[in-house]
Amino acid sequence: GPAPEDQGSAQAWLEAHDRRLGHFIDGQFQGAAQADIAVENPATGETLAHIPQAGHDEVDAAVKAAKNAFGQWSRKSGYERSQYLYAIARGLQKRERLFSVLETLDNGKAIRESRNADIPLAIRHFYHHAGWAAMAESEFAGQQPLGVCGQIIPWNFPLLMLAWKIAPALAAGNTVVLKPADLTPLTAVAFAELLVEIGLPKGVVNIVQGGGDTGAMIVRHPDIAKIAFTGSTAVGRDIRRATAGSGKRLTLELGGKSPFVICADADLDAAVEGVVEGVWFNQGEVCCAGSRLLIQEGIAERFLNKLRARMQKIRVGSPLDKSTDMGAIVSARQKSRIQGLLDNAAGEGIRLEQSSCPLPEQGHFVTPGFFADAQPAAEISQVEIFGPIAVTTSFRTIDEAVELANNTGYGLSASIWSENINAATELAARIKAGVVWINATNIFDANAPFGGVKESGYGREGAREGMASYLEPVPASRSKPVKPV
Ligand code: NAD
Repeated sequence: GPAPEDQGSAQAWLEAHDRRLGHFIDGQFQGAAQADIAVENPATGETLAHIPQAGHDEVDAAVKAAKNAFGQWSRKSGYERSQYLYAIARGLQKRERLFSVLETLDNGKAIRESRNADIPLAIRHFYHHAGWAAMAESEFAGQQPLGVCGQIIPWNFPLLMLAWKIAPALAAGNTVVLKPADLTPLTAVAFAELLVEIGLPKGVVNIVQGGGDTGAMIVRHPDIAKIAFTGSTAVGRDIRRATAGSGKRLTLELGGKSPFVICADADLDAAVEGVVEGVWFNQGEVCCAGSRLLIQEGIAERFLNKLRARMQKIRVGSPLDKSTDMGAIVSARQKSRIQGLLDNAAGEGIRLEQSSCPLPEQGHFVTPGFFADAQPAAEISQVEIFGPIAVTTSFRTIDEAVELANNTGYGLSASIWSENINAATELAARIKAGVVWINATNIFDANAPFGGVKESGYGREGAREGMASYLEPVPASRSKPVKPV
C-alpha cells in the first residue's frame, strides 16, 4: 500500500513549541508555561502536547482585546477586510500538509479525509467569505457588525469549524474570541501563527484554550454580543439558558439523528456509497451523519447484502496511513460512550452486524457496523451515537417513510435516494430538517446555508444567511454614511 503520510513538518512544529501550546490574546501567545492539560493522539495514546485552561483573567483579557480591536476593524472597508481573508486562505493553502497532519494526529481521522475534506473545505470557506467581505457595502447596505463574538467549537472538524465561525464573523466586521475543544487544540494554534504572519491586526481574533468551564465564561461574559456554538444538544441547552434575557445573539449547531431514506427505485450501488460517506465518514463523528437508514421493503434485503459486502472493504487503521478509510474515535470517553449504547442495544436483543476487519491494538478504534432492524422507539434509534454505527428500519409506503424520518427530536439533515426526482423532491419537502440532500450526502458548500431545526439548533452558517447572522440593521438615528470602497 501507499507509504504513511510524512509527519515530519507536524512533529517539527510540535517540537518547536516544546509541545506546550497556549492562548493567543491581543496578538500575543501566552500561557504555555501553565499548560497542564494533556492532548492525546487518539490512535496511539501518546501525548502530543499540553495546553492551559483559560480562567476569568484570560477570558477577560481576550474579550478586552477583541473589544479594543473592534473599532478599527469594523471601520475598515469590506475590500480591506477581504484582503486579510484572502491572505488567510492562501496561507492555509501553502500549509495544507502541516494542517492536515496536525488535524489527523490530534483528532484521529484518516489523513485522506483531512487532506481531501477538512483542510480544503476550510480554505474554501475563507475564499468564499473574502468575496462576501469585498461585497459587504453593496450586499449588506444598512447593516453593521455586532461587536465581539464568542465562538465555541467541537472536536470533530477542528479547523473546519474554526473556519465556519471566524470567516463570516471577520467578513462582516466583527472581532472574535474563539475556544477550540480541549481535545483538539493544535490546528487553532497553527492558525493563530498564520494570522501573525499575514499581519491581521492584533485583537481581531483571540483564541483561548480550555474545556467547558472556559466555554461557560465566554458564554456569560457581558461584553460579548453574540455566541456561536457547535456541539452537543445538552450544552446547547445550557447556553440557551445562560444567554436568555442577556440580549446576546445566539446561533446553535447541535446534534442530529439524520434519516437516510432509500426508496425502492434508488440506484442501490450509489446509495451504498452514500452510506459509506454518510455513516462511516469521520468515524461517524459527524453531526449530520445519515445514521438512520430507512429502507423501502422489497429492496431491503438486496440493499443490506450490498452494504454488508461494502462494509467488509472499509480499512480501519492508522490514520496516517494513506490507504486507511477510518481512523480512531477522538477519546477513550467517546469510545466508551459509543460502547455503552451498543451494549444497551444488545441487552434489548437488537442485532448488531459489524465488519470483521481487525482493529489496531492501541488507540480508540470502533469497528464499523449497523443494527439490522431496530425499532424506531429503541434508544439506539433515538440517541445520537456519534460513532460508525447506523440503525436500519424498513418502511412500506412513502407516508410511512415521512413518519419515521420525522420521528426524532432532531432535525439537522436528511438524505433521500430515488431515481424519481419528482418523488424525491416531494419527499424532501415533507422531512423536517435544515438540510436535505437528494442522491447525495454530507455536501458542505459555503454557498448553501447549513443548520438545523428542532433540537438540532437554530441559525444558519454559510451563504448569505450565515453572513446575516453576524450583522444587524444600523439604527436609523445612528446611521452614518457608508465608507466608500
Ligand atoms: P460538547 O458539547 O460538550 O463540547 C463542544 C464544545 O463546547 C467544546 O469546545 C467544549 O469545551 C464546550 N463546552 C462544554 N461545556 C460547555 C458549557 N457548559 N458552556 C460552554 N461551552 C461548553 O461536546 P462533547 O462532550 O465534546 O461531545 C459530546 C457529544 O456531543 C457527542 O457525543 C456528540 O453527540 C455531540 N457532538 C456534536 C457535535 C456537532 O457537530 N453537532 C460535535 C461534537 C460533539
